Formats: sequence, C-alpha cells, structure tokens
Amino acid sequence: MEIISTTKKMQEHADSVRRLGKTIGLVPTMGFLHEGHLSLMREARKRTEHLVVSIFVNPTQFGPGEDFDAYPRAFERDAARAEKEGVDVIFAPVETELYTKEFQTYVVLEKIPKHLCGISRPTHFRGVATVVAKLFNIVKPDTAVFGRKDYQQFVLIRRMAIDLNFDIEIVGFPTVRESDGLAMSSRNSYLTPEQRRSALSLYRSLIEGRKLVKSGIKNSSRIIDSASKLINSHKETDIDYISICDPETLVEMEIIDRPAIMALAVKVGKTRLIDNMMLNPSEGMTDDPSAY
Ligand code: AMP
Repeated sequence: MEIISTTKKMQEHADSVRRLGKTIGLVPTMGFLHEGHLSLMREARKRTEHLVVSIFVNPTQFGPGEDFDAYPRAFERDAARAEKEGVDVIFAPVETELYTKEFQTYVVLEKIPKHLCGISRPTHFRGVATVVAKLFNIVKPDTAVFGRKDYQQFVLIRRMAIDLNFDIEIVGFPTVRESDGLAMSSRNSYLTPEQRRSALSLYRSLIEGRKLVKSGIKNSSRIIDSASKLINSHKETDIDYISICDPETLVEMEIIDRPAIMALAVKVGKTRLIDNMMLNPSEGMTDDPSAY
C-alpha cells in the first residue's frame, strides 16, 4: 500500500493506473476508520481494480465552534486497517495541499443544503461538495462509494456528479451498525457510557417509525411525535431535527404515501449524531433494518 500526500503525485499516480486500463475506486473519509468505512472499501474493491482511500479532516465542512480540532485522528491505526482491506493507496494530503492561501472556488448546491443538517450547519455542505469535487479531480475515480448513514451528503454528491458531469459512478452503501443498532460513527468515541445508552434512542426511534408505518400510520407528525418522545426520555439528548422527507429532494412529506426517508440529528451531550432509515408504506418491506 502506498501513502501519497501531494495532489500532483496523486494525479500522476491516477494517470498511470488509468493508462494500464485499470478502474479506480475512491472511498473518501475523514479517518478514524471503523467497520462502516471498511465496508465501503470492500464494496469499492468489488467494483474496481485499484482502490484509493482518502483520509482528510476537511476544515471547510466544519462551522465555527464545531469539533474540527477535537475530531479523532489515528493515522497509523487507519493505515494498518486500510492495508488489511487491500487498499492500494491512501491519499492523505495536508491542509495547505488542498486549500492554498488564494483558494476561493467553492461548489454550492442550491436546494439540497436547505434541508435537514444544512439548517443548523449552513456552510457544511459547501465544504463537503467542494472537497469531494476536488478529490474527484485529484484521484480520478471511475466509482466512488459513500455511506447512506450521511444520507443528505450522499444525495448531494450524487446530484453534484450529475450537475457537473463528473463521469463517476456514485454508490450509496447501507449504514453499518453496532450489534445493538447504533450507527457506527467516528464521533461515537466522544460518548460516555451513559451517553452511549442515550444514543441508542436514535436507532430505536427509527425502528419505531418503521413499525408505525407498517401498521398503517401515514401521518408524519404522529411518527415524529413518537420519535421525539422516545428520544427526549433519554438523558442528555437535545433534538436538532426529526424529518420525514422525499428521498431525492429532502422536502418534508406530511403524508407517507410512498417511500420516504426518516432522518434525524440529535445532540447527546456535546456530540451531534445523525441517523436515518427508509420508511416504505407498501407491502413487502424487508424486516432487516440493515438493508437501509
Ligand atoms: P466520515 O469519515 O465520517 O466522513 O465518513 C466517510 C464515509 O464513510 C462517508 O461516505 C460516510 O457516509 C461513510 N460512513 C460513516 N459511517 C458509516 C456507517 N456507519 N455505515 C456506512 N457508511 C458510513
């Protein structure tokens, strides 16, 4: 496994791989790799011949007062995990490599960032779209794999790739969970044991939402009420939003008369956690929550 830290070297490397006729897969990450990240790598590995994982804690997607400085970093451990998964290259640039002093070009989507996390994190998705567009131009992948755990990020990237004609297949991989259902996240490492118990209420409220829909309830507000009651009954929780929305536009749906995404963001102590699940009112819905 090679570790590349400059854009020029990465671009040259990508060119040489492409000249050999090999396809490139990219899994962008901010590091502190867990089983969720590793699953994306396995998926990308299946689909492509040369696997690049980027590790970069992207400053432009953090707002003032957010956890950029505190974000967990463990490069040596990450490198060992990636190597075990058969990763060919880790692209790990320093900040100045991606953002020079004169940097002034951002990718801004008009609509998707106006919903869900974009409301309380108004500059977040500008940072995400910008860094991913840069990674696409640097790593030159044929396929890039993203987690549906960050559902809004996934639909934003998919939209950006279409709108800007990136000739890249965007794959969304289902959320990988701990055995009790908590969505894996690098930020789970911030949680105290008591907060870890409260964090499980996100998953539980989504499962409850699916059950209510399956029992015939179509009114979003009833499902959101039940979710907020459940979450608020746990210590140190502070709900940012609970939304039931269109899977593509993320516009809220009052009535669940077709598949919808139930998405939520909750602060547990100081840690902001997100999760989501598909709600499908039609018959034949799988009972396996990991399918979402
Ligand atoms: P991050 O390092 O948190 O920026 O995440 C990098 C990629 O891993 C993103 O595409 C995330 O959506 C994805 N990811 C993070 N957690 C999970 C998870 N529990 N299951 C599946 N994908 C995940």
